[in-house]
This record gives sequence, C-alpha cells and structure tokens, in this order.
Amino acid sequence: MHRYKRYKQSPAVTQTYYIETFGCQMNKNDSELMALSLVEQGFTPAGDVLAADIAIFNTCSVREHAENRVISRIRSHRKRIQGRNTVVVVAGCMAQRIGGALIEKRIADMVVGPYQSPDIGKLLRRHLADRSHRLFLSQNESDFSGRINPDLYRVSDTPAWHKWVTITHGCENYCSYCIVPFVRGRLISFPSGEILIYIRALASRGIKEITLLGQNVNQYGMDNNDVAFHTLLESAAGVEGIERINFLTSHPKDFSDDLLRVIRDHHNITRSIHLPLQSGSDRILNLMNRRYTVTDYMNIVEKIKHYITRSSLSTDLIVGFPGESEREFEETLAAVERIRFDDAFTYAYSPRQGTPAYALEEELGRDEKIGRLERLIALQRRIKLQKLNEVIDSVEDSIIERFSKKSLNRVMGRTFLNHIVIMPGTSEDFGKMIQVKINGVAGTTLQGTRIA
Ligand code: SF4
Repeated sequence: MHRYKRYKQSPAVTQTYYIETFGCQMNKNDSELMALSLVEQGFTPAGDVLAADIAIFNTCSVREHAENRVISRIRSHRKRIQGRNTVVVVAGCMAQRIGGALIEKRIADMVVGPYQSPDIGKLLRRHLADRSHRLFLSQNESDFSGRINPDLYRVSDTPAWHKWVTITHGCENYCSYCIVPFVRGRLISFPSGEILIYIRALASRGIKEITLLGQNVNQYGMDNNDVAFHTLLESAAGVEGIERINFLTSHPKDFSDDLLRVIRDHHNITRSIHLPLQSGSDRILNLMNRRYTVTDYMNIVEKIKHYITRSSLSTDLIVGFPGESEREFEETLAAVERIRFDDAFTYAYSPRQGTPAYALEEELGRDEKIGRLERLIALQRRIKLQKLNEVIDSVEDSIIERFSKKSLNRVMGRTFLNHIVIMPGTSEDFGKMIQVKINGVAGTTLQGTRIA
C-alpha cells in the first residue's frame, strides 16, 4: 500500500483529500490522475487520511485477500472518523467489481471505477452537491480523454526523476485465474503521438527515467492500428534526456524479436525483462489459458540471450493451480532450475470469484499449496544468490533512488539489470546515474563502490 504524498496547491480551498493506493503500478498512476483532477476542482491535499475531508481508497481486486484487507482498512477508518462529515470514496478495481455492495453496506459513500480516475474531481463535486450521485462506474472509451495529461508532472509519489507512463488500459487475454479483464475491461491503447508528447514534456522538466505500463505492453497498438510496442519503445528511447526506460508487463505469447532488437540497439532501455511464466507444466498453462508452452517460453529465453549480451529475467509463478499434480509442480521447479531467473514473484493459487478458474475443482488444501510455495521460494532464493554473485567485479550503471534503509551515509541505486545496490553516498546523488563497481553481496543485496 502506498500513501499519496502532498504537493503544492492554491491556498484558497478548504476541502481536503487524501489518497491511499493499494495494488499495482497502474493504480499508482491512476492515483496521480485522481490527484490532478482533484486539484483542478479546488480540493487540497491533507497531510494524512485522518485529517482529510475526502478519504479515497484506490483499491486492487486481483486477490480476494487484498480486497478483504482494504475493506477492513476502510471499516477501521470509518470507526475513527465517526461523527465527522468525511466522505469515504472507494476507487479502482474493487470499486468497479463490487461498487453496489460497497454502497449498500455503507463501506463507501461514493464509488468510482478505474475508468473515471481522471474525472474524480468533477464527480466528487456532483456528489457533494447532491449526495444521491454515489456510483460512477462505466467502461466507456469516452471516459479516456485526459488519460495522457502533461500536467501530471505536477503530482507524483514517485521520485523527482522517475515517472510511470501508462500506455494501455485493460486486458483481453482472459487468463483463467485473473479478474483484470472483468474489472478493467478490454484493451485500449492510448495514442502513441500523445504518449510521446507526454514523455518529451517529462524530459523537458527533468524526468530521467520512465516506466511504460500496461497489463500486456506487447499488445500495444493491436486494438487501434497504432504503432507496435517496439516502435513506441524505440521512439521513447530517442527522447533527449531520458536516461533509462523500463517497461511492464510482457506476455510471452506476444513477445517479439523486434522488441529484442530495439532493446539491443538502445543503451537507455533496461536490460531487465519481466516475463511471467506462471507454470512449468504445459497442461497447467493450457488450463490457465496462457496460450504458450514451456518450449515457446524457452525459445524466448534463448532469443534474449542471443540478442542482448547482458540481461536479467524475472517472472511470476503460481503454484497449486486447480488440478496441479506433484509431477506438474516439479515441472515448474525444473523450469526454474533450467531458466535461472534473477527474481521471481511467487504465489500460492487462491480462487477468485468471477474468473473462469473459480469453477475448477481444487484438490490441494492451503497447507499443501503453501508447502509447494516454500519449496519454490527456497529454490529461487538459491538461484538468485548465485546470479547476484555472478555480477561481483562488474561495473554497473545505476540510478540512485534513496538512502539505504540502514544508514544515512549509504545510498541505494538500481542497475540496468534491476539489481539493487548499496554504496556510500549522499542525498546529492538521488536521481543521478552513477557507475558502480560491485564488490559483494549482503543478504540478497549487492554492495558496491562508485567509480564515476
Ligand atoms: S495478461 Fe492475463 S494475468 Fe495479465 S492482466 Fe491480462 S488476463 Fe490478467
């Protein structure tokens, strides 16, 4: 969960807001859109959620656990503000999915779906003028004007040199375990011309690093005959002043050689690729509706090695999908051994109401799933440590992000392989690209010294 920071605003307004953001990077970007819209309508940021006249919870629906957690968070907030006139707004994916119930159960005073994030200021004004306007849910494309807004540079909970740049909304891959297509709707690519104007505006204001965001960036442009993702990425890499571009998330079924060529030819594109594998079993991948096989995935891994001399690979893995046998789980372990991911986000499957996989019968209990997850985590941790040790003695370009958690004399940076590295430094280094010699590994973090 991320609490949204304050930024400068006109002093003339009395109603204050505070946004708590849960879930993925897309939600962080939506929170920025909401903050901009609120400021434009004369609301001002509060220092914390308890002080705010308008408490906004920007929610995630991906896991049932995440929804339950945010509901209890909102309930406890409501208790603390009892007797006050605070408006509680629930935004984001959970609002889209169960907004009616949230109003009925008096968890929310107003709900706003993710499509309406850029208009939340106006919608709040309507609600405040007439409290009967409480539900703002739709998946109309017309709600998208304002998604790419150069004024967004004014609001940020990200460092002064970095910006998230959302390039698509929604997803139509319908992986059988995933709720996103049902709450965020079909794929909509934002116009490449507007995205590039936005990136140039960011660069002219000192932004050095951007992350292009979409549920499946490789599908960019397929819905509206705009340029392909690799072309957009290449144009973004050509914007003067942008020192590093990251992108999230790729889907193996749409990953192209053209993309690898563009990465190879542009030194300012990350060498860290996030490519969710999800399972090492073809039968389970089929049940997940992922539309690639393990062999397809391995072919991409080989191509990455062929095109890009130094790269890192991270992934997402789900264990205990309905019907996953011990042998099929071991196929996942074998794939992880073979591919040797630098990092993996690992999950025990939990059924999500509203998804096709919800209807599949589960044979494994929670303990068995957690047992498999622990085996996978132990394996991945061993591999991660080996991979980190392999970069000792190399020199890495790193952008410095903040102080190390343990010392104000040391700073934390991130390399082009997306490794975290700690080195001596000061706040003067924040946002700067620095060459770092890697000396060792402490825990799972690289330790280095700057050489330039
Ligand atoms: S690609 Fe699959 S997992 Fe990712 S958002 Fe789309 S449906 Fe969900």
